[in-house]
Amino acid sequence: MTMPDDLIIQTIAPTTHNLGDFKVYRSLPAKERTMVGPFIFFDQAGPAKFGPGEGIDVRPHPHINLATVTYMYEGAFQHRDSLGSNQLIEPGAINLMTAGKGIVHSERSPDDERARASKLSAIQTWIALPDALEEMDPAFEHVPEDALPVLDYGGAHARVIMGALWGQQAPVTTYAQTIYADIMLRPGGAIPIEPEADERAIYVSGGDAALDGVPLKAQTLYVLRPGTRATLYSVDGGRVMLCGGEAFKTPRHVWWNFVSSRQDRLMQAREDWDAMRFPLIPGDDQEFIPIPQGRPKTVSYP
Ligand code: MN
Repeated sequence: MTMPDDLIIQTIAPTTHNLGDFKVYRSLPAKERTMVGPFIFFDQAGPAKFGPGEGIDVRPHPHINLATVTYMYEGAFQHRDSLGSNQLIEPGAINLMTAGKGIVHSERSPDDERARASKLSAIQTWIALPDALEEMDPAFEHVPEDALPVLDYGGAHARVIMGALWGQQAPVTTYAQTIYADIMLRPGGAIPIEPEADERAIYVSGGDAALDGVPLKAQTLYVLRPGTRATLYSVDGGRVMLCGGEAFKTPRHVWWNFVSSRQDRLMQAREDWDAMRFPLIPGDDQEFIPIPQGRPKTVSYP
């Protein structure tokens, strides 16, 4: 049997943030690690419960040089962006928003959810764009639940969100080699984790799960040793995300909602948002999230 140290090379506990009514667990970027494959931001939001008349309003804000990947567990978001996209996202579907040279978007509770008591639970990730694509034209892609392949095997129900896993290919655009899956394990369920990508990580969103005899903590990101195989299983049932892809050869810097290989590009984006030089969102151009006040502090990880 594989020893834990041979299999798990890094264990990243999340930082938690209270965003108004709901809690966010952030595993990436972390002090000890910026990226796993192209994934540079990994957030679990919620679960949160809302009474009638309540909901979430992530007001218009900009991104550059990255793509955001929104995946709902429960509830829904209405996505709007400066390309004119206006898309409801519901559990099992994926929204891939590519910022490239710059985009502005908002995510708000849909009116019908807001009218009644509702729930919200989601995984929000950002993927860095390869050097040559950082300044590409922005794009938006919605892939519905029924277009994503599902593997039902060994008491596991696994949805391939990006890339190729267990012999199935997701139809979602990727810019660097990427793997991403939502694995629902029934009690006693098990699924193999293969070395499909150089950099891989496992994240337990809820319930219980273990990897080759090593119990995994919830809301913790486990980075796996390249080339290793293991069996992921659950005694009582659990939900796990698998993410990763090719290692980036050039480092990325993160400041606020911006990601770039160049620090001066981050500061340019900051000035551009402050001066309202980004495009507006048709139908949602009255509000915005301002640049954080104070000295610009570039969060830069080696
Ligand atoms: Mn955003």
